[in-house]
Amino acid sequence: MTKLTPEAKKKLRSRSRLVHLGRDSEANHGFINYPAYRGSTVLFPDVETMKKRNQRYTYGTHGTPTTDALCEAWSEISGAAGTVLVPSGLFAIIAALTTALSAGDHLLMTDAAYQPARIYCDTILKRMGVETTYYDPAIGAGVGALMRPNTRAIFVEAPGSQSLDMQDIPAIAAVAREKGVCVIMDNTWATPLFFSPHAHGVDLAVEAGTKYLSGHSDLLLGLVSANAAWFPRLHKMVDSLAVQPGPEDVYLALRGLRTMELRLREAERQALALAHWLKGRAEVKRIVHPALPDYPGHEIWKRDFTGSSGLFSIVLNPVSDRAVAAMLDGLELFGMGYSWGGFESLVIPFDCTKYRTATQWAPGGPTLRFSVGLEDIEDLKEDLDRGFARLRKASDEP
Ligand SMILES: *Cc1c(COP(=O)(O)O)cnc(C)c1O
Repeated sequence: MTKLTPEAKKKLRSRSRLVHLGRDSEANHGFINYPAYRGSTVLFPDVETMKKRNQRYTYGTHGTPTTDALCEAWSEISGAAGTVLVPSGLFAIIAALTTALSAGDHLLMTDAAYQPARIYCDTILKRMGVETTYYDPAIGAGVGALMRPNTRAIFVEAPGSQSLDMQDIPAIAAVAREKGVCVIMDNTWATPLFFSPHAHGVDLAVEAGTKYLSGHSDLLLGLVSANAAWFPRLHKMVDSLAVQPGPEDVYLALRGLRTMELRLREAERQALALAHWLKGRAEVKRIVHPALPDYPGHEIWKRDFTGSSGLFSIVLNPVSDRAVAAMLDGLELFGMGYSWGGFESLVIPFDCTKYRTATQWAPGGPTLRFSVGLEDIEDLKEDLDRGFARLRKASDEP
């Protein structure tokens, strides 16, 4: 079998790349996959090599062939100069922010950011002397007006967590570039397969590998990819923080990578089918899904994204909390729990009106977020149909 050269790998279409990136069977005695390299100590052959540290692997915290394989593959599909791995998606956000910001700096943060990220900004970053201003996710190029001389980073997330606000990333990145401000994006929803972050002006792109990369709800992982200008600083920061995800999790993430596009496209198809079905229900007021033509921000999604994932929200017509609980408590296929992007369908009630500070999100009814998995769509509809019957029954009761 002819070996694919790095150049030939770059030319492959994305599905073929996902199969062939981050693999070297020659280096693995013919086996298809890298093993999960474990270890703290790495031996040096002689004093000279040890003094100069001129071998690729020097200690467990500085990477292994398994972590390198995932980083290389992720950089390729992200169009990045390099990638670092950390033990969770939230830590990936923290690593990116910590790379870009120092005492005395100012951060602009989307009001629709993954909520736990706000806690880091409002507590630790604040204590370190970094001031955070939350901004309206729909701001676009208007973000320039919020910039101060000490603004050093803009954090974007599109679509945003729970409320799925779209953001005009190229417009924001253009303003940032002019002022030398770092653009950090949480790209977990789309993954690099549906939104190419660095080609759209993002400097540091965060992915919770816990979601679609894993795809099986069995691991926690964070990835940060960077363009050439930012990778050295990112790498230095994460190296000095001395964090590495566990080898088994990295191994499983590489395994997830092979089927990520298939799973993502199926999640997209299933989620769109379910969204259209929900749209026709009398109990549903509104669908919050960027790929639906009447969604605010749909045009931006269509312009910049090449697909939509399995995560979307809905707004119910006003009913009591008790009626919503009756609907959710009896569901048999949809589980209720945090995280998403796995093979199984999930639903959670949410209320992002509680923590937003720059904008008001006034949905006008109870809100639910769905992560659509790989079950048969007819079974999922039947489960929800029975749920809606319970909701109606509970609303009718005095
Ligand atoms: C889940 C999630 C994270 C955090 O990932 P963990 O691995 O659970 O820490 C970050 N950003 C977004 C958008 C997420 O949905």
